[in-house]
Amino acid sequence: MPLLVPAHLPSLPPADLLVVGGGTAGCCAALAARESAGATVLLIERQGFLGGTSTGVLDTFYGFFTPGAHPRKVVGGVPDRVVDALDRVGAVFLRPNTYGAGTGVNYNPERLKRVWDELLARAGVRVLLHAILVDVLTEGSGRITGVVLLTRQGFVQVSARRFIDASGDAVLCHHAGIDSERAGDLEPAQTLTTTFRLAAVDLDAYERAGGKSLLMAKMAEAVDRGTHALPRKAGSLHRMNVSGCVSTVCVRVAGLDPNDSEQLTTAEQEGRRQAFIYEDFLRDCIPGFGDARIIGLSHQIGIRETRRVYGEYRLTRADCLGATRFPDCVALCGAPIEDHRAGPDGTEETAWAYVPDNQVYDVPYRTLVPRGRDELWVAGRCFSATHDAHASCRSMGQTMSLGAAAGFAASLSLESGLGARTLSVPDLQERLRRSGTPLVFPERGAFTQAGDWARNRSG
Ligand SMILES: Cc1cc2nc3c(=O)[nH]c(=O)nc-3n(C[C@H](O)[C@H](O)[C@H](O)COP(=O)(O)OP(=O)(O)OC[C@H]3O[C@@H](n4cnc5c(N)ncnc54)[C@H](O)[C@@H]3O)c2cc1C
Repeated sequence: MPLLVPAHLPSLPPADLLVVGGGTAGCCAALAARESAGATVLLIERQGFLGGTSTGVLDTFYGFFTPGAHPRKVVGGVPDRVVDALDRVGAVFLRPNTYGAGTGVNYNPERLKRVWDELLARAGVRVLLHAILVDVLTEGSGRITGVVLLTRQGFVQVSARRFIDASGDAVLCHHAGIDSERAGDLEPAQTLTTTFRLAAVDLDAYERAGGKSLLMAKMAEAVDRGTHALPRKAGSLHRMNVSGCVSTVCVRVAGLDPNDSEQLTTAEQEGRRQAFIYEDFLRDCIPGFGDARIIGLSHQIGIRETRRVYGEYRLTRADCLGATRFPDCVALCGAPIEDHRAGPDGTEETAWAYVPDNQVYDVPYRTLVPRGRDELWVAGRCFSATHDAHASCRSMGQTMSLGAAAGFAASLSLESGLGARTLSVPDLQERLRRSGTPLVFPERGAFTQAGDWARNRSG
């Protein structure tokens, strides 16, 4: 029974497929569903823009390329079309990861908001922004038949035949009473980060003075001497798509639960406080940053994990570090486990563990199917994985791939009339392959110099 349904709610026109959440996973799910079938797709998003973390917090897609000296491009299909659209307007360059997690695809996040708008409009996806899912509607069997949204007109209901929960927080599953693991219940939850962007940086002066190694040494010195109250001795910054601007992943907020409104409020305020301590530190201590100023904080504090749904299969640490193959593979991942957590003494530590020999593991289709469900898929950072496996498979190359796989699966289910658990996985894999998704480790090496995106797309 829904918890909150005022009587006689107005109804929006129904859809074949309803996608909750317009982050990387949700947008790619909607695009894939439209690419493979004529189904009507409605995507609802609580913010006023699409992209979720990709546009609100970050500026680099990881997970497209495996790490190491002989990188491979292991993501393709729908996610490629997103990067191609950015590349066509000169909003992309490739750059190495600070910690050796593989080449990243750097983009202009403001441009990406437009790209998501355009790609979804062209594909014929109905998008509803400023629409918050607050409840689900079910029939007697428990099958989900619709959702309740809080919109600008107040509460409305909308029905659909299939659903994809790409909300990051598994809100649809949560309201439907589907089991999930709350981050922090079994393992310490990953920390929260407000990202910020600085302008008026002289990057040549910074590099000449020692770049990254100087930054690390100065951070440690500031903490040890107590000159600046940085939350930790590590952190990274990188040049952006706009000259003289850098983007950072420095702030670290631990021990607050983003599922709790009061704790999340405290986290937002603490993230902003730390960001300006970093600004002072950079201006005072790092050559090239003397005139730098913060010109943008992330739209909200970056949340790495909240809920992970229990699905027909749970991806594990052993699967990742064993480079495991699965017969129902729908995506590849070569990204290391990257676990940002508070250490035993309360200071931050990041634990790294790599897939051996720069190989990949398969992500099985069953991780997208909530246990026992036929009308519903879950995609993106709330998919079915343990804490460690999620810490590897959460890069946006993978969240886009998982979204696309869920979208193709939903369209196949609508066409065939079969449920999520019984549809033909070989047919799904064929759809993914036809769209350009690699499902086996590619033999061809990847090109990873700054201007090389298009070279990977030719031939
Ligand atoms: C600080 C930080 C740094 C990271 N660094 C990188 C990096 O450099 N590169 C990389 O590839 N990955 C990085 N990651 C991981 C990656 O960004 C995420 O795992 C990924 O973006 C998750 O995508 P998603 O679509 O699953 O979820 P999200 O991006 O969280 O999207 C979920 C969407 O659902 C919407 N939503 C939620 N609830 C509702 C509701 N009730 N009603 C309607 N809409 C709703 C949200 O507004 C949001 O738009 C980082 C993550 C963080 C937090």
